[in-house]
Amino acid sequence: MDWSDNAEQAAFRAKVRGVIENDLPERYQDGEGDWERDRKNENPVARDAAKQWTEALAKQGWVAPHWPKEYGGAGLSPMEQFIFKQEMAISGAPPVGGQGVSQLGPTLIVHGSPEQKAEHLPKILSGEVDWRQGYSEPGAGSDLASLQTRAIRDGDEYVINGQKIWTSLAHHADWLYVLTRTDPDAPKHRGISFLLMDKLTPGITIRPLIDMSGRHHFNETFFEDVRVPVSNRVGEENRGWYVGMTLLDFERSNITGAVSARRTLDALTSYMKTDEGKAKSPGAEANRTALADRYIETEVMFNFSFRIISMQDRGLIPNHEASVSKLFASEMSQRIANTGTKVFGLYSYIHDKDDERAAMESKLTSNYLTSVSATIAAGTSEIQRNIIATRGLGLPRG
Ligand SMILES: Cc1cc2nc3c(=O)[nH]c(=O)nc-3n(C[C@H](O)[C@H](O)[C@H](O)COP(=O)(O)OP(=O)(O)OC[C@H]3O[C@@H](n4cnc5c(N)ncnc54)[C@H](O)[C@@H]3O)c2cc1C
Repeated sequence: MDWSDNAEQAAFRAKVRGVIENDLPERYQDGEGDWERDRKNENPVARDAAKQWTEALAKQGWVAPHWPKEYGGAGLSPMEQFIFKQEMAISGAPPVGGQGVSQLGPTLIVHGSPEQKAEHLPKILSGEVDWRQGYSEPGAGSDLASLQTRAIRDGDEYVINGQKIWTSLAHHADWLYVLTRTDPDAPKHRGISFLLMDKLTPGITIRPLIDMSGRHHFNETFFEDVRVPVSNRVGEENRGWYVGMTLLDFERSNITGAVSARRTLDALTSYMKTDEGKAKSPGAEANRTALADRYIETEVMFNFSFRIISMQDRGLIPNHEASVSKLFASEMSQRIANTGTKVFGLYSYIHDKDDERAAMESKLTSNYLTSVSATIAAGTSEIQRNIIATRGLGLPRG
């Protein structure tokens, strides 16, 4: 299999590299940048970096690489999106636009009214409005269609009561897109409507959930008599399930996950060769073997990514293949973090990255805790295995 670029792809790759080299703000050069956290950061350097990087990408039309050009996207082919993401991930440059770019924008492009498109798409592209997803509830995750948050029509408004959970980064967002139940008597997939809500609407309360690594990433979102105009409904009433499941045909290789796993592993290997690394990791044979295993796994991950992008390039739609890739990548990220904590033994108990005894600024310790969620977010490993079993292997449903 020849994975090298053809002339056109090489030229596009060089162009992406050039923009990153020239325009990536200094703050983002260490690969740890976070556009969503920086956008409204109290620190003006962070805010400027987020703004500058958005503008640099917008100048090329690359804020939304997979949106059609007529809506301000780049209209890139899946292969060009792949190259773009690969180069962004190699340099550690943060993507901009959050879930507005990745999820809500594509949904509005397909199902939104002309007014909704005109109002919301430009603000997503400029970075002015950040969107977050209110789907999961305490009793509805894998079985999302069981959601209970109720929206009752009252004239030109819906009145919403209920609760969402795990609303990632809602504290940084400006608007939420939310699945609500509008017909409790209909079969569960057919009584749901998709609503857009300004986060400042009276009755919305967002409460932090601190995860076990000490991060504030998740939130609980409560709705108490929240009034939302009917014009904020996307698509027809009770057809919101199908709206909520829409995504444009975009690149699904998870090349970002593969590149980032390899970067962590390379950093770990390099650190182990330094005097400090040697002192903190005596280099037992078991560590060397584990590192070699992880390296091979990242190679496998690259091949899963290439498989998916080559399917998309031929006009095929990856299905269970994307589940295989997600499952493998998420479990691999946990194994890499696990190996890192073993390599550094007792030094791995140090969580404070500024502690001088910390190995690699406690990155692997932190990854060990945060990567637990990788096999839950965006469909748990069990759900992925169900998809692989039924759609991939053709086994009967259990
Ligand atoms: C990092 C992260 C970010 C998230 N961000 C958001 C967000 O921004 N917005 C949002 O709405 N939600 C978000 N979620 C929620 C996420 O979508 C749910 O956690 C996920 O869908 C699983 O649902 P659950 O937590 O309710 O677990 P459950 O569905 O209750 O599952 C519990 C256990 O049962 C297993 N299980 C469930 N059904 C089956 C089955 N049919 N067959 C076999 N096993 C099964 C699961 O695999 C799991 O082990 C996020 C979650 C994480 C971890």
